[in-house]
Amino acid sequence: MPRRCTVCDHPERHSIDEALVTGAPYRSVAKRFELSESSVYRHKTGHLPAHLLKAREAKEAARADDLLDQVRNLQAHALDILERAEETGDLRTALAAISQARGNLELLGKLAGELDERPQVNLLVSTEWLELRAVIIGALSPHPGAREAVLRAIEGAGDGNAS
Ligand SMILES: [Zn+2]
Repeated sequence: MPRRCTVCDHPERHSIDEALVTGAPYRSVAKRFELSESSVYRHKTGHLPAHLLKAREAKEAARADDLLDQVRNLQAHALDILERAEETGDLRTALAAISQARGNLELLGKLAGELDERPQVNLLVSTEWLELRAVIIGALSPHPGAREAVLRAIEGAGDGNAS
């Protein structure tokens, strides 16, 4: 069995790590937490980087999850508004909801890391976008003029981005 690290096992390990991160000399940290200088040094060079990396990854993953949830929420609202606007024939609101939903999709893609390499291509073939496109066309079917204008705008934007 390898010898356990007295710093890793220390009940105040987080405070020790924090002190080391802020640049406190390992000698003073050892003194403060009544540890041997050599074990603090060994911990700082051998174990601390892994701890920090883990903490940062966990934090970033949590933050990304939170953002994704928020955008998904926004998207659900936008689609809800689009649906209601469709029922009442409120084209202005429908168009605003469509534009919002499209922005949300782009944001979702970016957050998911899918749009980093080929943003427009991925967006235009994504299932969510195609579904939304079908919803838009369906919503505007009682209004052929508006539908044509929206389709033209969408296709135009797609062509512009792809070229
Ligand atoms: Zn350690």
